[in-house]
Amino acid sequence: MPGSESETIITISDVLEFLFCPRFIYFMHCLGIPQHEEMRYKVLKGRDVHEMRRTTNIDYARKKIDCMRKERQVFIAAKKHHIKGIVDEVLFLGDGTAAPLEYKFAEYKDRIFRTYKYQLTLQALMIAENYGVEVNRGYICYTRSNNVVKQIDLKKKDFDKSVEIIMDILEIIEKGFYPDRTKDTVKCVDCTYRNICV
Ligand code: SF4
Repeated sequence: MPGSESETIITISDVLEFLFCPRFIYFMHCLGIPQHEEMRYKVLKGRDVHEMRRTTNIDYARKKIDCMRKERQVFIAAKKHHIKGIVDEVLFLGDGTAAPLEYKFAEYKDRIFRTYKYQLTLQALMIAENYGVEVNRGYICYTRSNNVVKQIDLKKKDFDKSVEIIMDILEIIEKGFYPDRTKDTVKCVDCTYRNICV
């Protein structure tokens, strides 16, 4: 079982791929077979919006959240937690805690996607490790819903589950463990790997 002695650092994108289907990690990292670029359309689209938001309306979050200071587009590599990635904004809050804020090129539809919550949880782990501050919540800004900002509370069980997922991914990468396929077989229909996935 990989653990704290491992020096492998995975990305937040790896975790999101794993959540889509654990076998993506095996095919990408163990066999070195990339996905088609179009699979990343939404991510790329999101990045464009990040860039736009960064230059047009950078102070809006400060007005709606008790934010004393923020850092934008922060790359963090958290060795202890084996995870790295970019945080759109790290907010330093009035109560002494910090929080990640993510922009999403999406409409808010009365529910928070599981992947958004994991993304914030992983970013929270990274921020806590690198800045030495408590992180117990994160924020999503929905750019297609008039920039509505939703707070997501992050609990111990969320952090525990994220750590568990990171360990599962390390096990695939470092031991070449071939994971179970996704239970949601609809995802297999137009999957890049469907011809080699047995
Ligand atoms: S074919 Fe299905 S199980 Fe296999 S990698 Fe693709 S989504 Fe996962």
